[in-house]
Formats: sequence, C-alpha cells, structure tokens
Amino acid sequence: MKKELISIVVPCMNEEENILPFYEEVTKVLKEISNIHYEIIYVNDGSKDTTIEKMRELARQDKSVHYISFSRNFGKEAAMYAGLEASKGDYVTTMDVDLQDPPALLKEMYRSIKEEGYDCVAAKSVSRHGYSFFRKIFTGWFYKIIAKMSNVEMVPGARDYRLMKRRMVDAILSAKEYNRYSKGLFSFVGFDTKWIEYENQERVAGTTKFNFPKLFAYAMEGIVGFSTTPLLISAILGIFFCFVSFIAIIVIIVKTLIWGDPVAGWPSMICILFFLSGIQLFCTGIMGEYLAKTYLEAKKRPIYIVKETEEDLCDK
Ligand code: UDP
Ligand code: MG
Repeated sequence: MKKELISIVVPCMNEEENILPFYEEVTKVLKEISNIHYEIIYVNDGSKDTTIEKMRELARQDKSVHYISFSRNFGKEAAMYAGLEASKGDYVTTMDVDLQDPPALLKEMYRSIKEEGYDCVAAKSVSRHGYSFFRKIFTGWFYKIIAKMSNVEMVPGARDYRLMKRRMVDAILSAKEYNRYSKGLFSFVGFDTKWIEYENQERVAGTTKFNFPKLFAYAMEGIVGFSTTPLLISAILGIFFCFVSFIAIIVIIVKTLIWGDPVAGWPSMICILFFLSGIQLFCTGIMGEYLAKTYLEAKKRPIYIVKETEEDLCDK
C-alpha cells in the first residue's frame, strides 16, 4: 500500500527555544504512526531572534523539515496560509510551536480520519488553563457575541490544530481573502468534522505572542469577517433615535403651545447632544471598519512575502 504523507504546518515568531523541542516531540509521535511519511513546514513570521537559524539547522539535518521565512511579520494567519500553500500532504495540520497543541493527539486524529471517515478531526480545549484571567473572560465574551452575530458556527475553545484531508485544505486555500480568520474559514468550508477535547497545556518556553491589542484586532477580524450584524445594529439604532426625536418634537411643540417657551433645560440638552454624538460616531466607526476591510481587500496585496526557504540553503 502506498504510504500517505502528513504535512505539519508550524507558524513561528520569536520561538528560538521551541523549534527543537517541538521537532523532537512531533517526530516521536509521527514515527509511531504506521504506513505514513511526514513533512514539517516551519514558517518564520518575521522573528527577531535566532528562530531562523534553528530552522536552517534542522532543515540541513532532516530532509523532511522545510521552512519558509517571511520578509517581516505578517501575522499567524498569513503564516498558516503560507504553510498550507506549501504543503503537499494527503493530510495537513497546523500546530503551535509552543507544544500547547499536544502532538500525541495526532495519532487519534489520523485514526479517526482513516477509520471513521471524517474529513477533518479538530482539537478543542475544554479549559483555558495557562492563559491570563482577563484573556479567559474576554475570550468567553467573544464566543458569546460571535455565536449571536455570525452565520458560521464557531466552537468555543476550538484551536487551529486540526488534521484535514487534502480536499478541505484546498477549499481553505481557495478563499484568497487578505483579512484572514481561519476559525471562521474552517467552519465556512464545511466538511465533516470530529471534535476531540483536551485540557489546555502551558507553553513550554517563551511567552504568548498575542497581547491584548493583537487579540482585540483578531476578535474584530472574526466579527467583521463573518458577520454584517454590526451594520444592522447601527441602522436599527438610527431608526430608534429618529423615532424618539419625532416623539420629542411633538411633545415640545405641544408643551410650547400650552405653556409658552421658557428657556430652560440646557444641561439636559447637552447630555442628549453628547449621547447622540457618541452613538453617531460609534455607528460611523462600525461602517468605517467594514470600509477599511473592503479597502484592504480591494488592493489585493500579497498575504505574505517570502525572503528565504530551505532551497536557498546551499548558499548559506
Ligand atoms: N505566531 C506567529 N505570528 C504572530 C504571532 C504568533 O507565527 O504574529 C505563532 C507563534 O509563534 C505560535 C503560534 O503562532 O507558534 C501561537 O501563538 P501563541 O502561542 O503566542 O498564541 P496563544 O497560544 O497565546 O494563543
Ligand atoms: Mg500558544
């Protein structure tokens, strides 16, 4: 029987301590799966440390290790896209290099795809152990909001860690959008997915690359990318306030006709003015967010730019 190829895509940014431990752990697990061969594709997303040297070293030693190095930091989504594009496997997975995605699950994922006929087996962490208190709260809110707003299902605790059949990978790659949000795209493309639950792990080394502003931008990407409900909310707010002002005009005209027009009510007027200006700016902001995303898409800039791959190694 022909051996099947499993591709592991690993986005990395400033992860010098993790490249080698990840390689050791993952190859140990992959070697235990019978009748497959594998390729590991590291993507260096503009690291400022020695990450790239670690990748070159591994690629020299092991022919199944490949790497793609970006010209600057393009973000994890771009790194995943580049890795998926370069992958040749019959089955492909993306994994974080910090070992927060347990490699041991790969065996079960592969077995489920082969024996149970799924197109994709995805990992879902049942705890958010290892993440800060605020991040846990913020993530919880995000999933509640997106569940109400979006028409694609986003599973709380879902990771980008999932083993997919080639056909699903090709479907994801066919979405060429610049503003990428993989968790939404996985759901958008459909296919039969099995969920495996696990306890979240702490990072082996280094710190998270997602600080609060980056995480907030990521959440906005998810909402704006997969829902137009915020636009509807701003339109409904507009209609509501038109209605309120219409009633207020009638009340004021009637009051003036009956009791005359004493000049009073400045403080309340200012409060109303501030409140309504705030609402207006909020709604303009929502529209601006969609316009900005459309602007970026319209430019059709490349999702990533490659500076070096393992094919350049002989020159080093
Ligand atoms: N990462 C990346 N580019 C970025 C940010 C992160 O390639 O701009 C990589 C990072 O090196 C890691 C993975 O994406 O392999 C997940 O990042 P991290 O562990 O910091 O995220 P968290 O687990 O805190 O969500
Ligand atoms: Mg991590």
